[in-house]
Amino acid sequence: MQHATRFQMTRRKLLRRAAALATFGPLFKATERVANAQTKSINPYSAPSKLRITDVRACRIASNYDYPIIKIYTNQDVYGLGEVRDAGVEGLALVLKPHIVGQDPLRIEPLLDRIRKFANHRRTGGGYSAIDIALHDIAGKVYGVPVWRLIGSKYRDRIRIYCDTTESKDPKVYAERMKKRKEMGFTFFKMDLGTQLVSHIPGAVDYRGVATEKGLKLLCEFIQAVRDAIGWDMPLAADHFGPLELNDAIRYARAFEPYQLAWAEDMIQVGHLGQGGDAPLNWRAYKDLCDATVTPIATGESLFGLEEGFKAFIDNRAIDVVHPDPLTAGGVRETKRIADYAVMHGIRTALHFAGSPVGCMACVHVAATLKDLLALENHAVDIPWWDDLVTGVSKPIVNKGFIEVPDNVGLGVELNDDVVKQHLRVPGYFEPTPEFDKYIIDDFRRGGPYPHLNEEGKLVVDW
Ligand SMILES: [Mg+2]
Repeated sequence: MQHATRFQMTRRKLLRRAAALATFGPLFKATERVANAQTKSINPYSAPSKLRITDVRACRIASNYDYPIIKIYTNQDVYGLGEVRDAGVEGLALVLKPHIVGQDPLRIEPLLDRIRKFANHRRTGGGYSAIDIALHDIAGKVYGVPVWRLIGSKYRDRIRIYCDTTESKDPKVYAERMKKRKEMGFTFFKMDLGTQLVSHIPGAVDYRGVATEKGLKLLCEFIQAVRDAIGWDMPLAADHFGPLELNDAIRYARAFEPYQLAWAEDMIQVGHLGQGGDAPLNWRAYKDLCDATVTPIATGESLFGLEEGFKAFIDNRAIDVVHPDPLTAGGVRETKRIADYAVMHGIRTALHFAGSPVGCMACVHVAATLKDLLALENHAVDIPWWDDLVTGVSKPIVNKGFIEVPDNVGLGVELNDDVVKQHLRVPGYFEPTPEFDKYIIDDFRRGGPYPHLNEEGKLVVDW
């Protein structure tokens, strides 16, 4: 309980504070600021209150992927919701708890600076990202504004959504499924083109699981079938090509050129060591790929941070489209930085997303502020209870292929406790997390207690 000790107050200070609270406290309570904001009295200044983070808790929803949801609590009832990247675990955020408890949640960037060194690519960007989202939810509620207004201006009132579609080894069936998406109102499409679509055909796939020339022609027949179904006036992207090396990727991308894809995604795996390369340092391979084809090339769903992940790709024009997932890339603030930097270099942004409506709305807020947005992904359009996980937003959340940008405070969404509790992966619903009170991960830490001089020059042993 180091943080508790650190903020111990003397009896005199406590009495002084109690007297002040009795006089002014109600004026400064964050919860009341929300109410004030709803009657148009928005205070543009940093909160004069003593708003402090008191706790971080979590639950994990079992869905198409696991959705780890976190809640950051404060001493004034107002709380923030955040989400770790799909298929991640809540511990990625909870280990950061002692770094933020006792701090002012409205000092968003200084707080994020403290924890940035613990974030990395793939799911390990999820803890930082969840905390970023929850802090913006709190700040939005306290200042009475939607999250999008905390990070920029609104470029659009609704966000174009694209979604994945279940594959079929029969091109006609696959195309029919895509056509149904179009009938649902979608105006942007993406298809997966894994070699499992053709691996049952002799000579279509080599010993590495990569399509041969014969296999590639067959994969193109799938694209042609989908094009026939949705038309040429609809953007169509493609993903999930398997373990391609650079020369394979060039061969694929050139074969796809006649179909004018919106982008080919993650042709070379990034963000991890091992098979597929050690990107993000591998921007050079993407540069070679980009230079070798007119098929637009996208990557980024596994990258964290502008400086750590995206900058080299953008500076070197190694991709045509950045594709960050705000739940990995660093939350709403960092994703905005990445997209703004990309657009300065003439590179467009699409957003990857595969989590709950909480994270989805975080993405919607970022998407609203981006100058040049292609579309935002949604992986849950076939899950019947996905919308029911939350309240506060207009439903269906994905309405005829678009999501409305909310103007209510914070993320504009609250959990529907009863429904979430029906879909928990692991027992426990925002239970106390004392096991994360102490520092589990840190950089340099002096420890303590240690002797020092207090304000009166007296030697004390304390924190
Ligand atoms: Mg992808």
